[in-house]
Amino acid sequence: MIKKKCDYHMHPNLTNEPHRADAFIKSAIDQGFDEICFTDHMPLSICDAGDRIKKGMIEKYCLAVAEKAKQYEGKIVIKTGIEIDYHPDFTDEIENNLKQGEFDLFLGATHFHIPGYNILSSNLNPNEYAKISFENSLKAIKSGYFDIIAHLDLQRWVYTLPKRFPMKKGIYNINEHIELLKKIMIELEKTKVKLEINSLAILHKVGSDDVYPSKDIMNLSYDYNIDYVYGSDAHSYDWVGHGYDLIGKSKYYKKAFSR
Ligand SMILES: [Zn+2]
Ligand SMILES: [Zn+2]
Repeated sequence: MIKKKCDYHMHPNLTNEPHRADAFIKSAIDQGFDEICFTDHMPLSICDAGDRIKKGMIEKYCLAVAEKAKQYEGKIVIKTGIEIDYHPDFTDEIENNLKQGEFDLFLGATHFHIPGYNILSSNLNPNEYAKISFENSLKAIKSGYFDIIAHLDLQRWVYTLPKRFPMKKGIYNINEHIELLKKIMIELEKTKVKLEINSLAILHKVGSDDVYPSKDIMNLSYDYNIDYVYGSDAHSYDWVGHGYDLIGKSKYYKKAFSR
């Protein structure tokens, strides 16, 4: 059950733009959040996007989050997290990164849209792309690195941007992935890795009444004894907590907030 009001996924970009963090924290306090977790992206050799912690800066990042946690003590709990791009080829890099700081929470994510991944979407149709994405999420859950699996079906966003991510023709059909999704749920139940309900889907405009994961995946998940967390995936302060109340009341999601 989601007992406390928490947002466990946000990107203040603390080490590159330290002045932004206070606005994220104040927004969360104003909305009555009990806890938040900073989850800036881990350094990754194949991608040096501006919103990532730079190589060699992990320790500094963790110290900076701890400093903010101390500054706002009594007002809100701030946890030290990191969003990790899981790919079986990256495990050495992940392990090396994780040794460099003190963390409270590890978010595992499959980000096939990042340039440099081995998967080129142009060679795949949407169902093949989804299959590989779900398979990697399953491996991520089994890997033992993570507390939370983030935006399980983020690939739905990729489908909305055909110019940016060209793909072979086809339609994503969730029914072709049910067995794989059941394996994911079984593994979540076994490992106690939490399933994230991620509201970035609202900003991505991927569906009228669902977020990540979709309502179909949520319905499937209710057959298993798994725990959920909410994450806004805010890359700017005005996105912190976005959709929390809406999702909490949604007929497809409220069960996750109440059990
Ligand atoms: Zn992500
Ligand atoms: Zn994120």
